[in-house]
Amino acid sequence: MAIRNVRIEGDEILRKKTREVTVIDDKIKQLLNDMADTMYKNEGVGLAAPQVGMLKKIVIVDIGEGLVEFINPVILKAKGKKVYKEGCLSVPHVYGQVTRPLKIKVKALDRNGNEFVLEAEEFMAQAICHELDHLEGILFIDKATNLERVEE
Ligand code: ZN
Repeated sequence: MAIRNVRIEGDEILRKKTREVTVIDDKIKQLLNDMADTMYKNEGVGLAAPQVGMLKKIVIVDIGEGLVEFINPVILKAKGKKVYKEGCLSVPHVYGQVTRPLKIKVKALDRNGNEFVLEAEEFMAQAICHELDHLEGILFIDKATNLERVEE
């Protein structure tokens, strides 16, 4: 078990594009394990590899329904729109309203290299879209309206 440091806004790695994973080796599996430890420790519902300083197309999500790992995720379809109040472990204490698709279909590899397609809606769709933005160097504050700072 290893907790990695979560990069905070202002760190330029959060603004860089990521690379596809070509080989899912032990290092990648260790990264996935560490990302989960780091997400749970920080009580997040999702985490993207750049948030722990790795420029790889890897995200994890757990909205309370179990951990899902996505390697090289691609959104195949997006439908509808919904506005959510959003935050991010890399932008502490800041929240804002972000419009996300209501439903998505996403394709990715699991840690065994098997491709899967997942249909998600509402909160799960929001969480996946938020994390996938990180892979393009996009933060929710780029899209949000009504940003507010909440001291906790
Ligand atoms: Zn985030």
